[in-house]
Amino acid sequence: MSGTEEKADKSAIIIEPIEISDLESSFRDEIKSMPHGKELSACFACSTCTAACPIASVWEYKPHQLIRMIILGMKEEVLSSKEIWLCLTCFQCQERCPQNVRVTDIFFDCKNLASEQRMIPENIVTLADELMTNGQLYVITADWEREDLDLEPELPGLSTDEIKSILKETRTGKIVGGDD
Ligand code: SF4
Ligand code: SF4
Repeated sequence: MSGTEEKADKSAIIIEPIEISDLESSFRDEIKSMPHGKELSACFACSTCTAACPIASVWEYKPHQLIRMIILGMKEEVLSSKEIWLCLTCFQCQERCPQNVRVTDIFFDCKNLASEQRMIPENIVTLADELMTNGQLYVITADWEREDLDLEPELPGLSTDEIKSILKETRTGKIVGGDD
């Protein structure tokens, strides 16, 4: 591919036309009305959040782009994006934003909104299910290994019953369990 062709090809990927009629400005207002959304409109697209993000390089939509998409009202794209679920919640972006935009918290709000609409990635549902069933995310040592390793039948001191019963009563529990 020649240099000119390569340039043309890249710009074709970067510049995706936005259909104005598809935008939902009420989405921006919805996020702004949430406790973390007050400063949303102060974003001046400096990309500091993206520069601070340890995993933005592998994201299709970078943090500053997601914030811009929210401001534009690209509800469907944001709520169906994998990035809001891939966020490590490390708060690096939020910590460094010069405009005090609560980037990480806003992504939490987006996840909550996506969950309300059952737009939850399959792997997240599996993890939530695991948490609801076992009261913890990971099996510490499988039953069959415990005996081989001469461990007690159950991890001493591990009590997950209360966690399970609390989770069952939460909104998350009801959504994942299909009771909501
Ligand atoms: S760092 Fe803050 S102001 Fe800059 S792009 Fe990100 S959210 Fe917007
Ligand atoms: S909180 Fe999420 S978006 Fe922000 S820097 Fe960490 S991984 Fe990136």
